[in-house]
Amino acid sequence: MRIGFAGLGAIGGPIAVHLARHHEVAVWNRTAERAAAFALERGGIHAPTPRAVAEGRDIVFTCLPNSPDVEQVVAGPDGLEAGLARGAVLVDLTSGIPAASRRIAARLAARGVGFADAPVSGGIKGAEAGALTIMVGSDPATFERIRPVLETFGKRIVHVGPVGAGDALKAVHNALIAVNIFAIGEALTTLAKAGVAPRTALEVINNANGRSFVSEQLVPERVLTGAWPRTFRLALLDKDVDIARALTDEQGVESPMISTVSRLLHEARAELGEEADHVEAIRLHERHAGVELRG
Ligand code: NDP
Repeated sequence: MRIGFAGLGAIGGPIAVHLARHHEVAVWNRTAERAAAFALERGGIHAPTPRAVAEGRDIVFTCLPNSPDVEQVVAGPDGLEAGLARGAVLVDLTSGIPAASRRIAARLAARGVGFADAPVSGGIKGAEAGALTIMVGSDPATFERIRPVLETFGKRIVHVGPVGAGDALKAVHNALIAVNIFAIGEALTTLAKAGVAPRTALEVINNANGRSFVSEQLVPERVLTGAWPRTFRLALLDKDVDIARALTDEQGVESPMISTVSRLLHEARAELGEEADHVEAIRLHERHAGVELRG
């Protein structure tokens, strides 16, 4: 397959590495140095524009922060749509907005180009291991066409519905992560003030039914150690929860949980900045409670 890839960020970079092992890959990145370095190290072709990364390609991937970024890269004389040939497919790995994905799909369909929203889950570790979960929104024929290429970097590839369904599921899934982050932050700061050390509390919680991925892995590895690695920006989680909140509004579903974590994430983002990691949201609880959750 001849593959194009736009967006060599924290998650896009390792995905493109897997693709380059099995396919001929052309890469484009807004900051050109990143694409140049990739081409040098991985043997891909450095495309100077989105149009060039799409020309002559069977499948083109985008992995950008949000759907408006994708729409921007698709449009215009140097955009992806100018380069995509009839019969090609654009696969958007961005955790994006369902309605925007439907808009992009309709725009490309008019030119005979297929589209799938295919957000991923599993973090940088999952991307590096080629073991991501991929939730695909597309028509069934497009799904079958792209599945073999998705298998290059995905372990669990699920067709979840029509275009937009992948984005919807991803946003709601990440809202669950956010709920868990704030819930365990609140729990552990309360317990610390009540005299139960965080490690002791987690020894019980993680062997009982209040546990979650956040309490079992993220808090011990990142909070108790004070390591705070930066793998998935808090700003991106905030964006995901905004998408989930808009979805609850659209569907007329009451959302006390999602609305609350959305407000807390806005607060955390304003306090901690655009480059903070999502788990650092727990610092908000620490600051408010005046305790540090170290092991
Ligand atoms: P990063 O911020 O690390 O990278 C973003 C990429 O998009 C960079 O290549 C950046 O280019 C490019 N970019 C940003 N804005 C624009 C724009 N307006 N036009 C063109 N290119 C742009 O993000 P991630 O890689 O972490 O995330 C990408 C997507 O994947 C997001 O939707 C995120 O929610 C999702 N995701 C992330 C995970 C993670 O663990 N990090 C896990 C699962 C999903 P430049 O180099 O110039 O900055």
